[in-house]
Parts: sequence; structure tokens; C-alpha cells
Amino acid sequence: MDGLRKQNMNGQQSDSQPYRLAGLRYKSTPTHIDINGTVIGASDPVVIAGPCAVEHREQIVSVARNLRELGVTILRGGAFKPRTSPYSFQGLGEQGLRLLAEAREATGMSIITEVMDASDVELVSDYADILQIGSRNMQNYTLLKAVGRVRKPVMLKRGMSAQLAEFLASAEYILAGGNEQVILCERGIRTFVEYSRNTLDLNVVPAVKAVSHLPIIVDTSHGTGRRDLVEPMSIAALAAGADGLMIEVHPDPDNALSDADQAVSIDYFARLLKKVHSFAEWRASSNNAHVEADSDEEITA
Ligand code: PEP
Ligand code: MN
Repeated sequence: MDGLRKQNMNGQQSDSQPYRLAGLRYKSTPTHIDINGTVIGASDPVVIAGPCAVEHREQIVSVARNLRELGVTILRGGAFKPRTSPYSFQGLGEQGLRLLAEAREATGMSIITEVMDASDVELVSDYADILQIGSRNMQNYTLLKAVGRVRKPVMLKRGMSAQLAEFLASAEYILAGGNEQVILCERGIRTFVEYSRNTLDLNVVPAVKAVSHLPIIVDTSHGTGRRDLVEPMSIAALAAGADGLMIEVHPDPDNALSDADQAVSIDYFARLLKKVHSFAEWRASSNNAHVEADSDEEITA
């Protein structure tokens, strides 16, 4: 039995302590998750990009090629789509997974895609490098237990009205199954505001870091629902300490079959990525300066 599981079974959970494997007391160093050489949770922020949904071969392969040229190594694209209305585009299902595999073949990129149902975990795992659990499924415990049994990274999106402890308790389900590779994702919460799709709760980034070793990515596309807000909020997410970003990019954003309002073009994304890189450099040097100042203090103290 591996370490995580043993600890979990020895110390029975109490309601007042909904998570422990996700906590800093269990593990005090940040968790690094290696996706075919791209490390999430280390100091460099990782940018995941791609369309909301896989629509057809040309769309996903061309956007993947463009993104790879810009240096992106992880491609997103939904094959199974959780849509609010049953009449909206539901995704291509297994055919979408096959098209993602073609995009990976063409570019060498890693793939992240959503799994909506426990019975699809095996199928989606055959294609995905990272399994995505969507916001609407954050408390689907059967699904969380199913991905806990897989030995593949899982990105868990925060439920749209989930509190921090609930978010971490859901991550705990995956960890308790023995899957140590959990990435959290803030994607905006429901509030009273009407000018944006969601309210991007960037407070949660340093709040997660204060209690957990798990990396946290910020999805500024769903977090805003507006392409004009994606760039400034991406920089803000990095300023808050995010381990990376997830951004919806489409070759023809206005005609995207899902989430067109928040989709950005390749050109928009290329400009954004430049800013992300220069901000990330500044963040790294500023963090290093603090580390050096702290060690100087120790020497002189
Ligand atoms: C998505 O990222 O494709 C998605 C459906 O997002 P969310 O689960 O955050 O709504
Ligand atoms: Mn979307």
C-alpha cells in the first residue's frame, strides 16, 4: 500500500478535518506534477491553451500547431462537454478524443480533456495526459473516487459555489484513492455581478498556498467569460501566485461552437503570452530577491 493511502486509512477522517493529505501538515513542500517534461507547481507558470471544445479535425490540429509554435506544450479541448442547455453543442465524444490524439501526434503536445462520467474514465485515460474534472462535477464523489484510482494527473476545477474547504475536500477524495497528482483550478465563482460570467476569485490562490502543497492553475476564460478581461486577469492571476493559466483559444473565436464570448484568437493569445513571459520573469526575480534577502538576514542575525 502506498504512503498516502496508508496514512489516510490509519487516521480516520473527522468532519472537522475534511482534508489532510492535501494539507501542508502532511506535506510541506510544493507538489510538482510532471506532464511529459512540463512541470506544474515549480516556479515557472505553465500555460494550458486550446479551444473550449474539439469541433473538427482542421480546427483542433491547426490551433494545436499554432500554439505549439508559440511554445505551449499542453493542449486543452473538450470532447465531452457539460453544457447548461441540452440543446447546446454537447461535444464530439469519442471522436473528439481521436481528434485530440491526432493533434498530439501532429505536435507532440500533451492533452487535457474533461471526463464527465465515472464510466468514461478508462476511455478518456487512454487519450488524455491530464484528466479534467469540471466545475459542475467537483462534488461528484463517484467520479472523484474513479479518478483517484487512476495513476494519471487530474485537474480539479472548483465548483462555482464551492468554499475552499469543500474544494480541498474534493481534492482529498482523489488523493485518498492513491492518486497523488492533483492540480487545482480556480475558474470563477457565482456572485451577484452581471458584467462578467463569473467572479474570478484570485484570493483563493494565496489562500490555497497557505494551507496546501497542491499546485493551482487559474482559468481566466471561464473566470471572466469576456475575452477583453482574459489578458489583465491572467497577469493578475500570476501576481497572486498561480502556478499556471488555462486559456480558451480558437482559430475563429466569434464562430466557436461553445463559449465564443470568452474565446481569444491566436494573435490575441500570442500578445498575451509575451506579457505572461515577461511578468513571469519579473515574478521569478522578485521571488529570488526575497529568498536572497531572507538568507542575508539569517546570516546577519
Ligand atoms: C471547461 O473548461 O471546458 C469547462 C467546462 O469549464 P468549467 O467546468 O470550469 O465550467
Ligand atoms: Mn468553455
